[in-house]
Amino acid sequence: MEVYLDNAATTKPCPEAVEAAVSAMTVNYGNPSSLHRAGLNAQLVVDGARKAIADSIGADKECIYFTSGATESNNLALRGASAAYGRKAKKIVISAVEHASVEETAADLEKKGFEIVRVSPREDGRFYAADFVNACGEDTCLISMMYVNNETGYILPVKETFSAVKRRYPNMITHTDCVQAYMKLPVKASALCADLISLSGHKIHGGKGVGALYIKKGVRVLPVITGGKQEKGIRSGTESVPMIAAFGAAVKKLVPAITERYEKVGGLKKYLLDKLSGIEGVVVNSPEDGSPYVVNISAVGKRSEIMLHFLESKEIYVSSGSACSKGQQSGVLGQFGIRDKRADSALRISMTAETTEAELDIFCEALHEGIEKIRG
Ligand code: PLP
Repeated sequence: MEVYLDNAATTKPCPEAVEAAVSAMTVNYGNPSSLHRAGLNAQLVVDGARKAIADSIGADKECIYFTSGATESNNLALRGASAAYGRKAKKIVISAVEHASVEETAADLEKKGFEIVRVSPREDGRFYAADFVNACGEDTCLISMMYVNNETGYILPVKETFSAVKRRYPNMITHTDCVQAYMKLPVKASALCADLISLSGHKIHGGKGVGALYIKKGVRVLPVITGGKQEKGIRSGTESVPMIAAFGAAVKKLVPAITERYEKVGGLKKYLLDKLSGIEGVVVNSPEDGSPYVVNISAVGKRSEIMLHFLESKEIYVSSGSACSKGQQSGVLGQFGIRDKRADSALRISMTAETTEAELDIFCEALHEGIEKIRG
């Protein structure tokens, strides 16, 4: 039996998403920009998904722009907002635990003359809104901070930070990468005081290669990709109608079940931690009050990659740190105080509401066996 516990890397598309994608490929296959009936039908599919996503974050549908994924959304947010607002205000504040698509984009902007301030957690491993606010100034055009960390499940104080920032600097642009929070925690644009929000389709049982950027009305973002002026000129290129349809279908399905699913996964996390506490040599790297969807642990002294392949040989799929970092040592874990041997042996188990206790039993048993068999 295959046990898939790598849902922070990607999720299995739900049947509703698959059906919507197939329908967009076989029935509504027109180009949404075409002026004839086939184009209009495709446009209606795109707009239906746009409305579902907008409703889910309490926004108007005009504020949702489709992209190829959250990597592109994050690029568009940082590059596009800094191009619009950063002529004089040259500082950008980010957290030190951002996904590479924010961190690397910020690093590139740094080379182009922006000052990037990276805010770290304090000694206790926690982030404080005051530290972000104090890092900002009149010279800051943008603050970008993820909601849920993809490696540990840590929940960052986005709402507290953005509301404080907006009180002090009403014109500063606020961006949050909500990829690991969306459809798990409530993500509402106004409650978060967010001007820009990045979302991804494949982390929520939609499909790969689609994402969205929410842009608050009145906020300017200059395009990164230019061309045929699709998405009101903010993101040129023919929309991926099948993937957008799948994204919308997944959102429609999950919206009514967010709380119920969160509680279910909370129960699964408890079950998992309880079982893990009985296995010698295992430490938990995720905070107790983090998102239950991501559980980071270390079988200290057993290298992540070796353990990962041992588990893989039993058709159990987890990740070492973040799947996007392709096995590189995680700087993010270091930020949370997880270093050396503990970081070398970190494993990320990421669940979904469809995960079962029986699957977690299989995982724990195999982990136990791996700890006994693997030398280092
Ligand atoms: N942001 C976070 C927090 C992520 O976890 C990921 C993917 O792992 C991304 C952004 C990138 O998303 P996408 O795969 O849609 O480009």
